[in-house]
Amino acid sequence: MTVLVVNSGSSSLKYAVVNPDTGEFLADGIIEQIGSAQVPDHDAALRAAFDELAAEGLRLDTLGLVAVGHRVVHGGKTFYRPTLIDGELIAKVKELSPLAPLHNPPALLGIDVARRLLPDLPHVAVFDTAFFHNLPESAATYAIDREVAERWGIRRYGFHGTSHEYVSQQAAAFLGRPYDSLNQIVLHLGNGASASAIAGGRPVDTSMGLTPMEGLVMGTRSGDIDPGIIMYLRRSAGMGVEEIDTMLNRRSGVRGLGGENDFRKLHARIESGDQDAQLAYDVYIHRLRKYVGAYLAVLGHTDVISFTAGVGENDAAVRRDALAGLSGLGIEIDEALNAEGGHETRTISTPDSPVTVLVVPTNEELAIARASAALAAR
Ligand code: ADP
Repeated sequence: MTVLVVNSGSSSLKYAVVNPDTGEFLADGIIEQIGSAQVPDHDAALRAAFDELAAEGLRLDTLGLVAVGHRVVHGGKTFYRPTLIDGELIAKVKELSPLAPLHNPPALLGIDVARRLLPDLPHVAVFDTAFFHNLPESAATYAIDREVAERWGIRRYGFHGTSHEYVSQQAAAFLGRPYDSLNQIVLHLGNGASASAIAGGRPVDTSMGLTPMEGLVMGTRSGDIDPGIIMYLRRSAGMGVEEIDTMLNRRSGVRGLGGENDFRKLHARIESGDQDAQLAYDVYIHRLRKYVGAYLAVLGHTDVISFTAGVGENDAAVRRDALAGLSGLGIEIDEALNAEGGHETRTISTPDSPVTVLVVPTNEELAIARASAALAAR
């Protein structure tokens, strides 16, 4: 039994064929440059993915597919659990598109072509916002005019929820502790980056907000800024909304400051003496430390801090610098353990550290496959 997982973005489509029981990946890949001559649209992208599967000797009709799981970024207030896709869901996700203009429309394109090419399978939407659906009102509410917020659905939704949930559950399993007995901080540091605070199994805060722009400094996104900057740029620099949006989403973050969003290249620049790259790194680390401190205060105490995603899993310097000098707060990293690589969940704190610090490889595809198979079996 397998699930086809589809993560459809504007210019790329990621796919995986996953056994939800064993966690085995029979295949996975990414079709890039959607919109080019070779891959004109999402239909061509999914067909190209099927061609790649065929080239590996995998035939769709003999894979034992029980469902297709789709990653959908924004579920708004409406969707907070994996949901079977039908016309009504598609219409509602479309309505939510203004909240995630870069993410929801391409997900809908992926859903549309997958349903046409695989009409006999149940298709399931798994929402990035779902895990944070029940944030305490104090954390979910922006202190702005209530009527405006109501009218326009402005609140903290949070993103990367599938990853924060998966990683925090993996951490509990790794430690052999009941999920609801632990306070946890999860630092999901990929190209997009977000932090979450989880109290006894319940998410109580997360750094992304109405959109995936808030919070930590990211590969190309600014994270937190003074909202006054936007008005200032509108009024005084004469910049348009689209221009500001593009700047904050694509030309900010570590790339905007240091010229690179890939941390391997950023480190290389720093080593060659590039001051801009050094500043980008310092700003990134400073913001990360601020969130760790904030979430320690929100939680009162934490049992676990987990690093995950591309940077969190691979960049020992980021992990070291994010938590350096915090022994007064009960956090002691073991330099040698931290420097070791690996692809499994592992401890990087000292045996005596009151807070256990882990590296936990995330696996959103497996989480989506499991959720989709469970729903399809009902
Ligand atoms: P996405 O948000 O696109 O899913 P990932 O979680 O795959 O991102 O993270 C991608 C980022 O991870 C890259 O841009 C790069 O900065 C970082 N990364 C990947 N491998 C390494 C590595 N070995 N060392 C440092 N950073 C890495």
